[in-house]
Amino acid sequence: MKIPFNKPWFAGNEIQHIVNAAYSGHISGNGNYTKKCHTLFEERYGIKKCFLTTSCTDAFEMAALLIDFKPGDEVIMPSFTFVSTANPFILRGATIRFADSLTDHPNIDVDCIESLINQKTRAIVVVHYAGVAVDMDKVMALATKHNLIVIEDAAHSVESFYKGKALGSIGHFGAFSFHETKNISTGEGGMLAINDPAYIKRAEIIWEKGTDRAAFFRGEVDKYGWVDIGSSFLPSDMIAGVLFGQMQQVDSIQQKRVEIWNRYHQLLLPLQQKGLLKTPRIPAYAVNNGHLFYLQMPDEESRNNMIDYLNNNGVQAVFHYLPLHKSKFFASRHDGRDLPNADHFASTLLRLPLFYELPISFVDSISNKVISYFQADHSYKYDLPG
Ligand SMILES: *Cc1c(COP(=O)(O)O)cnc(C)c1O
Repeated sequence: MKIPFNKPWFAGNEIQHIVNAAYSGHISGNGNYTKKCHTLFEERYGIKKCFLTTSCTDAFEMAALLIDFKPGDEVIMPSFTFVSTANPFILRGATIRFADSLTDHPNIDVDCIESLINQKTRAIVVVHYAGVAVDMDKVMALATKHNLIVIEDAAHSVESFYKGKALGSIGHFGAFSFHETKNISTGEGGMLAINDPAYIKRAEIIWEKGTDRAAFFRGEVDKYGWVDIGSSFLPSDMIAGVLFGQMQQVDSIQQKRVEIWNRYHQLLLPLQQKGLLKTPRIPAYAVNNGHLFYLQMPDEESRNNMIDYLNNNGVQAVFHYLPLHKSKFFASRHDGRDLPNADHFASTLLRLPLFYELPISFVDSISNKVISYFQADHSYKYDLPG
């Protein structure tokens, strides 16, 4: 049996909440569980207003609609990210300026953002890779100076913080994912966090297909109709029930994930000290939410060899993003700048299994397989430093 990279886990009462929603007679969107989840996220993470969506991609689409991009408007974001960070802005006709990663972390190199800002720039998107915070003070200062909107891709970042503030609660917008591969999961699911109150009223309309239905149900208007553009972003209340069930157990989920992460780190740090690979760096201002544990190998060949070696030894290890500036869709649209750090992480990074039910004894055996890779005789394929 191969140890899978990820395995979804129902933490407790999810099924009961689905049943409750079904018996309540309200299984479409914006029901009881949706409202409970909104309140829970707003209170726990200090978010002004939450809107549950069917995915993080959808949360981004809502944000892109709210920003009202005009064709030619520009948005700056890292190249080392998932397509969902970029697609919603392309759909609105915006132009993307991809930025490079830091040399020692996959996150956007905040110091290179200012050189990409011009008269057409409207927004900056940051991705907190692996749930590790981007230096948000710097990002928000740039945004204030140039009058830009900040969107945090918090897909990896439930229960992660920057200087005590929850990720997703700092920028004008934050977008969460509850996809099967994330810490808190409903299969497919997401949430738009709005921290600038100026956007809340319109968000409610865009969320409800461009109608003032929410105001109608509050008794503020006597009939509801088509008042703006919008789409169908609401998940069923049964999905919200699953999210509520997961969040009831968020502390134990997080504790377990961080325990697994720390064990990997403890066992694999000696390889870093020998110069054989690198383990993730967590800046002092950030918190580790145990979203994913990655390694950086010296080059692409050794990375691919390590993935093959682990897969041949019963461990599903996987690489991560291909840089978007070089993607089939975007390459011809890119402005030609080299983004060497994004390329570097794309070619050298690999992720190890990390999920709630992974026993610590398996973490130990996976780590031992990583260690034994360096003792196996394929290591002649490249020069080991030291
Ligand atoms: C998973 C992910 C998304 C997309 O999330 P969905 O809920 O699947 O739409 C967006 N950005 C990043 C960085 C992700 O990892």
